[in-house]
Amino acid sequence: MKIYNFSAGPACLPETVLQAVRDAAIDYSGSGMSIMEMSHRSKPIVDLFETASSRVRDLLDIPSNYHILWLQGGASLQFSMVPFNLLSENGSADYIDTGSWSFKAAAECNKLGTGKIIASSRDSNYTFIPKEFEQNHDASYLHITSNNTIYGTQYNVFSEVKSEGGILVADMSSDILSRSIDVSQFGVIYAGAQKNIGPAGVTLVIIRDDLIGKEYREIPTMLNYKTHVAKNSMFNTPPVLSVFVVNETLKWIEDLGGVLEVEKRNINKAGKLYAEIKRNSIFTSLVNKEDRSMMNIPFVHTDQSIDDNQFLLFCEERGLKTLKGHRSVGGFRASLYNAMPEEGVDALVHAMQEFENSK
Ligand code: PMP
Repeated sequence: MKIYNFSAGPACLPETVLQAVRDAAIDYSGSGMSIMEMSHRSKPIVDLFETASSRVRDLLDIPSNYHILWLQGGASLQFSMVPFNLLSENGSADYIDTGSWSFKAAAECNKLGTGKIIASSRDSNYTFIPKEFEQNHDASYLHITSNNTIYGTQYNVFSEVKSEGGILVADMSSDILSRSIDVSQFGVIYAGAQKNIGPAGVTLVIIRDDLIGKEYREIPTMLNYKTHVAKNSMFNTPPVLSVFVVNETLKWIEDLGGVLEVEKRNINKAGKLYAEIKRNSIFTSLVNKEDRSMMNIPFVHTDQSIDDNQFLLFCEERGLKTLKGHRSVGGFRASLYNAMPEEGVDALVHAMQEFENSK
């Protein structure tokens, strides 16, 4: 039976990527050594990092005044690195609270200075993206979460989140490379790899040149972007295997036809599932229509007294895995990252119809 993994992350990866990982785990590129045994100072690995960076640059059309970094510590460490590097001395930064990840990011800023939540949808359990807010003129930056993995909301346009100070920081962990973006709108973009571009263990950071080396405070070496820019992400031993998997995933995106093609597929996949949620009498979406995510699609039973486990088991028996919603939302969540094939969405839609008919 074909298995489809709808997990929110770590998430499904393209089959060809997994096959390349299997090969590289034994013999990397004819070297006779496993990629896991190779020094990060060796030419093949230095080349790998350069290739991965140039692929990201091409795929997202990143201007030359941006650096691309491969760091560790997950997106969660970026919650701290951003204020360490960008928050002015005794300063404050603006945060839009669209879910627990945004909230956690603001909390880290509050440990160094002030992370001001200027708009929030917390009171509605994050079912929408706030559109109206006033920014603080003296804010060091404005921080947003472009896609809210748990709640299934996503900024569909970024025009309403221009930072007055010119530094827009975005956590794109759950939608990086799923659609085209204008990188020049952002000062910093960061994304843990384990949803759309690879396995856990590496975090992609895209940062504008003028934001490096601001040094508003003493910054621990490993938390200073300058350290990693100066050493091409190899100040210490980097997560080579994770970067290898990312590079293979980027190659896969290129082979599909690039980000625009991937975006087209994602629109189609999400459209199919939303159409079924709308049509199906036993399921419904709680998310504000215009803010619905293409990546993470939560839905619940229209009659909330029905035990969710029935449908989860029904799906499980059909090879449709990891559909349980996050505990703070309940119900179900289908994550349709780049690597989820259309057939997986079709199988889920079919199961929803079968389940409805069985009632
Ligand atoms: N931001 C978002 C939007 C996420 O979805 C996640 C992980 N689910 C994180 C941050 C935290 O990422 P990490 O586990 O890589 O620290």
